[in-house]
Formats: sequence, C-alpha cells, structure tokens
Amino acid sequence: MISIIIPFYNEAESLPILIDQLIDQLDKIKKEYEIILVDDGSKEVSNIKYQILNIKTFHHRKRLGKGAALKTGIENSNGDIIVFMDGDLQDDPKDINKFLKKINEGYDFVNGIRTDRQENFLVKSYSYLATKFLKIFLHSPFTDINCGFKVFKKEVLKDFNFYGNNFRFFPLATFLNGYKVSEISIVNNQRKFGKTKF
Ligand code: UDP
Ligand code: MG
Repeated sequence: MISIIIPFYNEAESLPILIDQLIDQLDKIKKEYEIILVDDGSKEVSNIKYQILNIKTFHHRKRLGKGAALKTGIENSNGDIIVFMDGDLQDDPKDINKFLKKINEGYDFVNGIRTDRQENFLVKSYSYLATKFLKIFLHSPFTDINCGFKVFKKEVLKDFNFYGNNFRFFPLATFLNGYKVSEISIVNNQRKFGKTKF
C-alpha cells in the first residue's frame, strides 16, 4: 500500500484541486493507497470533509510546524511505501509514478529535484550554498536536499526519529544510514493560492 502524507497549514483553496488530481493519478497506478491529510492547526475555516474511505484527516490543535505534521502522518500511516508532498499544488501528482519506478528499480529513498524551481534569488542562493556545504563536508549525494516531494520505503523510518522540525535532515540521515538513495527531476509549479509558510 502507498501512503501519501500531505501536511498543510491554510491551504483550503489548493487542497480540493490537489485531491482530485491525486485520485485521478493514483487510480491509474492501480495500487492500494491512502491519502493522509494533516491539518497543522489551520486558522481558516474550511469545508474539507471527505467521505471517501481512503482519505484520512488529522488535526493539530495549533500550528506545530511541517515536521510535526509529517510525524503525525507517519504515525497514522499503513503503507509500505510513503510519499511526502506539499498541499499547495507546487508538487504535481503526475510525478508519483516516476518516483515509484525508481523504488521498483530497488532504491529505498527517492528525493525530488525541482529543476525549474519557482523561488526568488535569495532562497535559491541559500539553497545552493547549503547543498554545496553538505556535499563537501558530509558527502551528501543530493542536488535539492530541501525538496519536500519524496517517496521512500517505510523501513527507512526505523533509523530516523522525526521530532520537532528536524525533517530537513531526513534525506541525508537516510543516506548516511546506508540506504540506497536516488533522485528524479520533478515539476515545481508556481504557488497559485495563498503564500509560503516559511
Ligand atoms: N506547512 C505546514 N506547517 C507549517 C508550514 C508549512 O503544514 O508550519 C505546509 C504547507 O501548508 C505546505 C507545505 O508545508 O503544504 C510546504 O510549505 P510551503 O509551501 O509554505 O513551503 P515552500 O514551498 O514555500 O518552501
Ligand atoms: Mg510551497
């Protein structure tokens, strides 16, 4: 089973569109799946109520951060394959198939690379420097370590404890723990609704 974990904070406009696109894609893949929506204490009133059996929703009473939302998702997931993706429509559900192909090739963890990243110069420069630093000093194999879109086997979680907002270390820790990691380039859409939470 595949568990798709989507942390979100105030993404009421994007989510219904994303869910439709996801169901469309996942039905094509013909694997059992569950969509896990984790509401990280959104302030806006939304009418996100799904009657579909394979969508589960969890709520934080207040905003605890993306990392904590991912942890809530993990704790409530049943899949042997886990997908992390954002709830703002910047990630494209069509890429899930590409990730799964890599997993089927034998990789334990596949990270996305936002080849055409929709970010301002400052964010891009910071990311570039962080990536270079991690490559030189920690032999990081990742091109876009901060990309939130990733797919991995559940077993890699045995060796990584999500707490607070340490989720940014997850790819490197998984690599350093000896798992077989890989990357694929993915689509990165411009944010259509709302604004960045970071
Ligand atoms: N998010 C969250 N809690 C937070 C911050 C962000 O659940 O405290 C969610 C957000 O709603 C989105 C994802 O994490 O689904 C990525 O956030 P965002 O798009 O703001 O990050 P960016 O793409 O700008 O790096
Ligand atoms: Mg975003």
